[in-house]
Amino acid sequence: MYHHVKKLMYTVNVGEPDPKFGNMLLEQFGGANGELAAAMQYSVQGLNCDDPARKDLLMDIGTEELSHLEIIGTLARMHLKPMKKNREAAEADPLIAICGGGGVDLRNSQGNAWTADYLKITGDLGVDLRSNIAAEARAKIVYERLINFTQDQGSIDALQFLMTREITHMKAFQAALDSLVTDPFAVGNIPPSADVVNLYFNDSTGEGESGEDYTGPWNTGDGIKIVEAPAFQALRQSAAGS
Ligand code: MN
Ligand code: MN
Repeated sequence: MYHHVKKLMYTVNVGEPDPKFGNMLLEQFGGANGELAAAMQYSVQGLNCDDPARKDLLMDIGTEELSHLEIIGTLARMHLKPMKKNREAAEADPLIAICGGGGVDLRNSQGNAWTADYLKITGDLGVDLRSNIAAEARAKIVYERLINFTQDQGSIDALQFLMTREITHMKAFQAALDSLVTDPFAVGNIPPSADVVNLYFNDSTGEGESGEDYTGPWNTGDGIKIVEAPAFQALRQSAAGS
């Protein structure tokens, strides 16, 4: 059951409207990493979830994201408002100016329509939680970039709030995942093949200005076996056999 309260979750103030910045803000309204995508992803995952505790988490955060959508939509609208009458302002987003009269629509900053294709919903709670952690990270970095492109303090304050909540959600999803799985690489029920899972294929080789081979914990960890240039090995074997 949903209910709307006539109050924003965070009060939005804008000093001088900036239509070009308003257009950028649409990325977090109707874009791939935006608030509607977050709200729909978590809420629909919640509908599919049979674990009552984690279903509660998904519905709590999914619903909060709708409140974020309201904040970012309000902020974008304040910045886009001058394009109702001003030709120069309208050039910042002709689609919004001409079809929307300066009002927001469920599109990204390039005018592409919001799509359910943005959502990652697998029906596997462990996989969905991992997708959500990644989604929060993407939303966080987009907010950070938006903050870097405005000097308007009211806009910065609202964006800082929204950005912070993404980290809060990221921590909650990570805690939910940690409490669900004992092995962080256990996905689904079928175990990986023991003879293949720890092979590291050195498939990019060479030296010079484009780099060389590097080592790190990803190819030197416990039990990892490096397979040198497997494509060359196969070629040499076929040459030797012919
Ligand atoms: Mn959010
Ligand atoms: Mn979030």
